[in-house]
Amino acid sequence: MTPERILSNLANVSDETEFYTPMPEGYEPGQAKYVIVFGTVMSGLGKGIFSSSLAKVMQDKGFAVAPIKLEGYLNRDSGTLNPYRHGEVFVLDDGMECDMDLGTYERMLNMDLSRLNFCTSGQIFSRVLEKERQGSYLGHDVQMIPHVTGEVKYHLRELAAKSRAGIVFVEIGGTAGDVENAYFIEAVRQLGFEEGPGSCCYVALTYVVEPPTLGEQKSKPAQLNIKQLMASGVMPHIIACRAQHPVTAKVREKLALYSNVPVERVFSMHDVKSVYMVPEMLRDAGIDSAVLDILGLSDKTDGDRERQARQVWNNYITRYRAADTPVTIGITGKYTSLRDSYASIIQALEHAGTHLGARVSIEWIDSTVLTDADVADKLGCVHGIIVPGGFGVRGVEGKIACVRHARENRIPYLGLCYGFQIAVIEFARSVCGLTAANSTEIEPACPHPVIDILPEQKEIEGLGGNMRLGGHDIELTPGSRVMSFYGESEGARLRFRHRYEVEPRYIEQLEHAGLVFSGRAPHQPIMQVLELPADQHPFFIATQAHAELTSRPLKPDPLFVGLVQAAMAFSGTAGKCTASAPPAVTPAPDPVTSN
Ligand code: GLN
Repeated sequence: MTPERILSNLANVSDETEFYTPMPEGYEPGQAKYVIVFGTVMSGLGKGIFSSSLAKVMQDKGFAVAPIKLEGYLNRDSGTLNPYRHGEVFVLDDGMECDMDLGTYERMLNMDLSRLNFCTSGQIFSRVLEKERQGSYLGHDVQMIPHVTGEVKYHLRELAAKSRAGIVFVEIGGTAGDVENAYFIEAVRQLGFEEGPGSCCYVALTYVVEPPTLGEQKSKPAQLNIKQLMASGVMPHIIACRAQHPVTAKVREKLALYSNVPVERVFSMHDVKSVYMVPEMLRDAGIDSAVLDILGLSDKTDGDRERQARQVWNNYITRYRAADTPVTIGITGKYTSLRDSYASIIQALEHAGTHLGARVSIEWIDSTVLTDADVADKLGCVHGIIVPGGFGVRGVEGKIACVRHARENRIPYLGLCYGFQIAVIEFARSVCGLTAANSTEIEPACPHPVIDILPEQKEIEGLGGNMRLGGHDIELTPGSRVMSFYGESEGARLRFRHRYEVEPRYIEQLEHAGLVFSGRAPHQPIMQVLELPADQHPFFIATQAHAELTSRPLKPDPLFVGLVQAAMAFSGTAGKCTASAPPAVTPAPDPVTSN
């Protein structure tokens, strides 16, 4: 049966039908294929890395791809989530605050995504309840099936229609058997039925355990959880096994037997050094051919395009492997015990390091225990410093001490968002003599509020929905250092997520004392980049933006490149490392959910 037939059949069903399949405008049945990735056994298997790598391989072959993450939680976005618990909040160009996996998709696919690429249960239920109030359900009682599942299918098809994607990659958050994602699984089961055979490729990502006491791989947890997925009505076409070591033939055969998936479609996805090596690993294993086969797309690939794309990508991997100049960057933050809180910064440093032939190590410095007295000791081994984004009072004085140390000792410094504001506070205190300077986020009644709440945000109250968010153009000052990094013709457009800014009445005083504001918001007095001139400091640059979010492997962010380059030069001149080994840090999570 063709997709058209199935969908027209749905239009002719009885009044009492359980089918509820609203079609977005412009959606042509059968126009898109879907690859749907489910997690089994446990979370944290790198589902986003797997899905984005598979999407990249298909993109290389010439298909227009659109990824989407379906997230089970009831929050409408990730804006109020604590990075200590959930990893960094990734911000899209249109201002959507979302899961860090969206960052993986943007980097892997080298494309800007939008709010259509991220869908939470909170969004789905809000829309259903809104429609209910508008009487859109024509007197029916509103149910999980078909109305909530109908909304999920609508969202997926809307993404396909608006992005004009040939293949939509759907990543379902959580694992099979979770209460939160059960209706997402049901929705994609229905989608496969409605769109017809050959329209959806279901992939179960699973985990093969290898208990050290046994010394062999065991497939039972994978078997059982895949069975649970099958009990939801989803028969996987492909099983991808995450594992520490290559998965043995015996284990793959066992999984095949229990799941009706031919053994040639049970793949081993063991650990690799860089996430950017996964696309090539998928090709080597043959997952791409299996997907093309299942979706009937084998004759639609563009071999030349794929060869070219592979070459560019493999050049990156070759450079990554060859990068060997050791350089250490210190990152001072309060979530240093959870690397996921700074996922994009770690990535941006890898991109810049690979570009420059540097092997960047990161020294995590807990700002909550850093003081003026021990900053020199704790930062004694680093060649560059980043103060990243952050919120709230905890750890701020440690960050100020860190910026002072970088400025006075000419250690390369890159401030990102909060790190920009901290640099202004430090400069105001140490150089302008405003010893009581602060941000009103930290000290609401401080005598010199050099950082204050954005005027347009003063009106809005409550957490969520009151930040300056998303991509904004930055007007760079001609002749400035930052302009030389971004290039005159290109200009800069970076992502923002902040409530506070430099208070305009202090700008003149700060500039008079030598701080250069070299990037501003066009038509608004919002300072977006600061720097110290080259004759005063080898690299002291900070931005109100999150430059890390838009760094891509094939196009590293210029400020990160600048920092790593300056750090490489600094490491050549730095004396012997004097610091004592930093203590293990396990900062407590903040009591509030504002991150
Ligand atoms: N807390 C600061 C503000 O709200 C900085 C935010 C950030 O670093 N993302 O403006």
